[in-house]
Amino acid sequence: GAMRHLPYFCRGQVVKGFGRGSKELGIPTANFSEQVVESFPSDIPTGIYYGWACVGNGDVHKMVLSIGWNPFYKNIKKSVETHIIHTFKEDFYGEILSIVITGYIRPEKNFDSLDALISAIQEDIEEAKRQLDLPEHLKLKEDNFFHLPEGKTVNNH
Ligand code: ADP
Ligand code: MG
Repeated sequence: GAMRHLPYFCRGQVVKGFGRGSKELGIPTANFSEQVVESFPSDIPTGIYYGWACVGNGDVHKMVLSIGWNPFYKNIKKSVETHIIHTFKEDFYGEILSIVITGYIRPEKNFDSLDALISAIQEDIEEAKRQLDLPEHLKLKEDNFFHLPEGKTVNNH
């Protein structure tokens, strides 16, 4: 399922999400625009993934990513949301987010409580951190994809 699409490179603008309060939970997720989501392979499984991310020309950080069903479109369209494992000084709506997805953790799940959801996400983050230190994932941190030519901006690929 998921593995045959990986590594998956993607670049696009960060847009306003559904205001589900991810930030209030301490796990803000940068949402890609509908146009970027539409460019994903239609058969990529929903679930939790990990990889590398960079905002604009900034540093490359570890990330966890969810590909889920978009409640705005009655769950017939997907949403792609990236939580970057880094503390940013400011929000970065409107900026270009570049990611490479290198691995898959688990399918989407429903949780009985907010506490259960938060601890599952914390476990996902720990798993992502461990996996990304392994050579096969670590090598993608240095990929040329993240080194944009000086003074140029890039939109959706
Ligand atoms: P929204 O519903 O608009 O996506 P969130 O609560 O998910 O709101 O917050 C996402 C926003 O938080 C991102 O678009 C970004 O501007 C900001 N942000 C700050 N730190 C991070 C981070 N570490 N990872 C992802 N987004 C972050
Ligand atoms: Mg979000």
